[in-house]
Amino acid sequence: MRTKLAAGNWKMNGLKAALSELGEMAAAASGPAEVLICPPVTLVAAAADAAEGLAIGGQDCHAKASGAHTGDVSAAMLADAGAEYVILGHSERRTDHDEHDEDVRAKCEAAWDAGLKVVLCVGESLEEREASNTLDIIGGQLAKSIPDGATGHNLVVAYEPIWAIGTGKVPTTDQIGEVHDFMRARLEKRFGEGVGRSVRLLYGGSVKPSNAGEIFAVSNVDGALVGGASLKAADFVPIIEALN
Ligand code: PGA
Repeated sequence: MRTKLAAGNWKMNGLKAALSELGEMAAAASGPAEVLICPPVTLVAAAADAAEGLAIGGQDCHAKASGAHTGDVSAAMLADAGAEYVILGHSERRTDHDEHDEDVRAKCEAAWDAGLKVVLCVGESLEEREASNTLDIIGGQLAKSIPDGATGHNLVVAYEPIWAIGTGKVPTTDQIGEVHDFMRARLEKRFGEGVGRSVRLLYGGSVKPSNAGEIFAVSNVDGALVGGASLKAADFVPIIEALN
């Protein structure tokens, strides 16, 4: 059985005052689903101290363990600050920082070396979907950005269609199911049935309290990676409850 996961990606949002949202989220985390919050890096240590019962994660890490990389953060630093997870390969990183599958793969290896679990993001653009290339794109991203050595413990994959992120547009449940079934099959083929079946698959892109229930009912959807609706407990708690 895969433990359901409600993951919040705060992106570049949140000053210290935002930590006050974590108490209610932590209270909602007493159910069977695991709850993860990935605040901006400035809040990782404080969030890890403040929020018992919540897992805390970073939103990116460098591929190197240390060195002359001004402004960057290593996986070991995140772990040292109390992070258990790191999001890697988010489409905003791929676009804003020109990150490619090879970069994501190297970062994933670094994260695993530091003992972090990785939420690895994949997803197609609108043009790719309209050209019926979605499964090819997702298959390529899975093959190239996940290193050998994945397990159900160290890897979570998030399917985030780029056109659904922050737009209010959500794929149909059939479209989500098609991609999630495909990802499950690909992971089973590459890593073997046992591992392939144990990796959790999240859907991300405009998840909110009103659509979470129907998305969570789709086969092979083990939870969600939530952006905007994870910033406030009033929005995120109902999403956690829909998963429980
Ligand atoms: P959104 O973002 O929920 O605001 O669409 C999701 C994400 O980018 O992880």
